[in-house]
Amino acid sequence: MMDVGHNCGLFGVSGRPDASRLAYMGLYALQHRGQESAGIVSSDRVCFHVHKSLGLVVENFDEPILSRLVGDIAIGHNRYSTTGSSAKPSNVQPLVVDLKGRPLAVAHNGNLVNAAELRTGMERKGSIFQSSMDSEVVVHLMARSGTQSVPGMARHAVTLIRGAYCFVMLTQEAVIALRDPNGFRPLCFGTLGGGIVVSSETCGLDVVGARYEREVEPGEMIIAADGKVTSEAIAASTRRAYCVFELIYFSRPDSVVFGVSVDAVRKAMGRRLAREHPASADVVISVPDSSNAAALGYSMESGIQLELGLIRNHYVGRTFIYPTRELRDYRVRIKFNPVRELLRGKRVVVVDDSIVRATTSKKLMQMLRGAGVKEIHLRIGSPPITHPCFYGIDTPDRDELIAAKCSVEEIAKHLGVDSLGYLSVEGLLASTGLPPEDFCVACFTGDYPVVFTEAPTKLGLERLAGRPEERG
Ligand code: AMP
Repeated sequence: MMDVGHNCGLFGVSGRPDASRLAYMGLYALQHRGQESAGIVSSDRVCFHVHKSLGLVVENFDEPILSRLVGDIAIGHNRYSTTGSSAKPSNVQPLVVDLKGRPLAVAHNGNLVNAAELRTGMERKGSIFQSSMDSEVVVHLMARSGTQSVPGMARHAVTLIRGAYCFVMLTQEAVIALRDPNGFRPLCFGTLGGGIVVSSETCGLDVVGARYEREVEPGEMIIAADGKVTSEAIAASTRRAYCVFELIYFSRPDSVVFGVSVDAVRKAMGRRLAREHPASADVVISVPDSSNAAALGYSMESGIQLELGLIRNHYVGRTFIYPTRELRDYRVRIKFNPVRELLRGKRVVVVDDSIVRATTSKKLMQMLRGAGVKEIHLRIGSPPITHPCFYGIDTPDRDELIAAKCSVEEIAKHLGVDSLGYLSVEGLLASTGLPPEDFCVACFTGDYPVVFTEAPTKLGLERLAGRPEERG
């Protein structure tokens, strides 16, 4: 079965003698973008040196391993945790191949919406695939182009693929980075002592002390070699479709993503939420850490004191990495604990960034009641998620999304809260400070910006099968 791509962390270094060590640090800072596997490939201009494995960055690398990854160019990848089948060694990135007699390593963030179709076509003609990754499809497409240069091959592949993609590639002498024409996922680069650093988020540049230059533009390919960056447009960019979920949840708040501060946007979302859904309450608390900035915004706008009412155990990964419901429930208890003395007898505004299946929120609300909270006013810093993502965010099938099945009132009842308010789509987009039409909000509206042919199962609605194609 074809594995769908996911949001991941990408990092690349060119022109630095300590390239693999910098990649290690970069991946460490981008750990939140993927906890399933981590890999680094370096080039000493002749050979590639590879280390990749299932697990966290800190578990996968140590000094002897990094010492082996010699060379002044390297790329790294953190793969997002997924449910079950894809957690296998053959899917650990970067993918390393021999392409027209030379080594190439490829790391991907996002999801191609026509990968299975392309793959089936190639398999019919005799191609053999070794993994179920989108990236392998791209490498096959590159190999089929008439040209010998890697940038030329990438240019050819881009004419055939559709969806959300950022690629960071390693050749013997360069790092190549490219971003899809809609710019779904973030990618930026900076300079560091004569070298070039590419990262999914600016927090990766910060950790190595690189100076932020700019984003890789939607539809742009950059080639970083010998301390210089060359750029070319590889796909016409007709509209932006920045993933708004990067700002709501996925990116780190200390990053600048799509040219805006994630922290500032989250705070603005919280302020807006307070205006759209005010509450009479004694305290505001956040579900740490992803909702901290939004809760602060809510508190500032409403004048209700912010308290640290839920404590998070930082040694636990994101709850989603546990595929079964039983394990997820257990995970919530391990991850969060209420400060009873603070919350007992209080009317509390709880700010969370999103509700997906409502498993986490249900447990949390029970926990707060157990701590003696008198009233719970749950405020969500994003609109109801009614549609799955096909562009890299790991949302479940439509029939698992609570807001696809239940009204806000029903969800409030299910969670046992006194009131529930979601931020509106307009309020969310206004909080970004960017033009609203530059975002993909398909998970809230079902309005998918890039046509797909492989979606109906995940949507759970056969009648929607032809819809995006019709629009196409
Ligand atoms: P639940 O409603 O139990 O499915 O979990 C929702 C919580 O998981 C949210 O509060 C987010 O903090 C977090 N979350 C939302 N989307 C994702 C995602 N795609 N991957 C991992 N965690 C997520």
